Amino acid sequence: MGTVAKSVPQTIRLILGDQLNINHSWFANVDSTVLYVMAEIRSETDYVRHHVQKVAAIFTAMRHFAHELRSRGHRLHYQRITDAGATRTFADLLQGLCTRHNVGSIEVQEPDEYRLDTQLRSIEAQVGIPVRMVSTEHFYTDRLALSSMFPGRTTWVMEQFYRRMRKEHRVLMDGDTPQGGTWNYDSENRKKWSGSPPLPPVRSFGNDCTDVLADITASGIETIGSIQESDLLWPCTRAQALEALDDFVSNRLPWFGPYQDAMTAQGWALFHSRLSFALNVKLISPREVIDAACSSSAPLPSVEGFVRQILGWREFVRAVYWATMPSYASLNALGHQGPLPEWFWTGETKMRCVRHAVTQSLEHAYAHHIQRLMITGNIALLLGCHPDAVDAWYLGIYIDAFEWVEMPNTRGMSQAADGGIVGTKPYVSSAAYIDRMSDYCTGCAYSKKDRTGEKACPFNALYWHFHHRHRNHLEHNHRLSMVYRTWDGMDATVRSALLERGDWLVNNARAL
Ligand code: FAD
Ligand code: SF4
Repeated sequence: MGTVAKSVPQTIRLILGDQLNINHSWFANVDSTVLYVMAEIRSETDYVRHHVQKVAAIFTAMRHFAHELRSRGHRLHYQRITDAGATRTFADLLQGLCTRHNVGSIEVQEPDEYRLDTQLRSIEAQVGIPVRMVSTEHFYTDRLALSSMFPGRTTWVMEQFYRRMRKEHRVLMDGDTPQGGTWNYDSENRKKWSGSPPLPPVRSFGNDCTDVLADITASGIETIGSIQESDLLWPCTRAQALEALDDFVSNRLPWFGPYQDAMTAQGWALFHSRLSFALNVKLISPREVIDAACSSSAPLPSVEGFVRQILGWREFVRAVYWATMPSYASLNALGHQGPLPEWFWTGETKMRCVRHAVTQSLEHAYAHHIQRLMITGNIALLLGCHPDAVDAWYLGIYIDAFEWVEMPNTRGMSQAADGGIVGTKPYVSSAAYIDRMSDYCTGCAYSKKDRTGEKACPFNALYWHFHHRHRNHLEHNHRLSMVYRTWDGMDATVRSALLERGDWLVNNARAL
């Protein structure tokens, strides 16, 4: 760290581990009165049990970023997790720095998570020095986007938000109309993948994280999942993130659209971009990603399907998070209280679809959207697991899991615990959907066709059990009227057998 005369008041600028945006205006000029601060800190490693790849990737990316800042001439204080006297919280860290330096002001970029926002806002009182919050300059929208776009509303529809975003930011538009004449290519984008086109090899960046892993172990951070020491495949520098984007646009984007909902046991990433980590720690910006997709020669349904995820869903769930926190974090509209079965942590279940999704999550800290929604989320919801437990699992296990994006997706879209703020109906299915979109059912110990009996696929009876037990809450949802008509039309003995099997499954989830 360089020094400045003690009499010159300094500004401390705190950079969080998911704020690695080297293009931020903070870094445009070198200012000797500014001291940048980065910290590997226990309050961040310990608020949930994280996947080891997630901790390693964040620390590795932070260390590269620190190197980049110093090489550009910026002054930096960097706390490693193993440093003697390393503080456990940001407040203690800043307090210590303020006693050692003549600090006149503290600046932070808006944290994406409510937990950190609360912590950082309380620092001013604790340290006695003004704290100024500035934008991260990363997202298209600000935190209050929903109240400015839809004043007075308390529920929002993603599709309306997305169309406004397309128009406002001139993405895939011809004047006032969407390119290709339609906003949505969902009907072309729901194909099963049956081996062709071949899956492109997963691009690994082979980051050596031997030192980081040694530090994680030495400091006693508890993690889940596995990692190969010298093969952290996630992009951890901006150059790697740009390479990952290039690889996606050239080798996957053309097929992203048709196969975005497909699942297979033959691979773990299909045609997905695996850019979420690089995006969420801000190594790369959503604008860069969208510009690259839109200027590619990939077919429009694929490009639109991809743009929708980032310009639509990603910005939308962030806006929902900030419009509804902190109460959102305790919503449990269906009153689910069950524990998460042990196989969520081991993958040891006879359900082939769940085994594959959980095992790859433990191995790679990754599952794609439909695995998260229609396999692990589906079974957790059908079994009635408590949304707190489900949230903690998703927040810990995925490389890209940060609460602002994890929680509306998990508690909202996947567990329907928000009472319909994010999703218009619960995302549950029987084996029929999973079989239609994947190759999981072939070779499964359970029979996809059977609804009752020991060998029957658990999803089948649980699907009806779920709708039956939540009838009061769900039957007035017009999107579910067909479900209840079908249920009511079944023979009473069939219904009672399904409910009996459903009861057994809920009570014996650990044995599945
Ligand atoms: P792609 O399929 O290639 O999509 C491109 C990009 O679009 C992603 O990188 C991501 O930035 C964005 N995106 C896609 N879907 C969503 C969505 N529903 N919400 C927000 N952004 C989206 N995403 C996270 O980034 N962090 C999470 O913690 C997270 N938790 C989830 C939990 C559940 C239960 C579900 C159903 C989804 C969750 N998602 C989360 C959304 C989505 O599953 C991941 O963004 C995606 O799988 C990341 O892989 P990818 O980069 O290959 O995405
Ligand atoms: Fe999953 Fe049921 Fe298919 Fe087995 S039969 S893979 S449990 S949906």
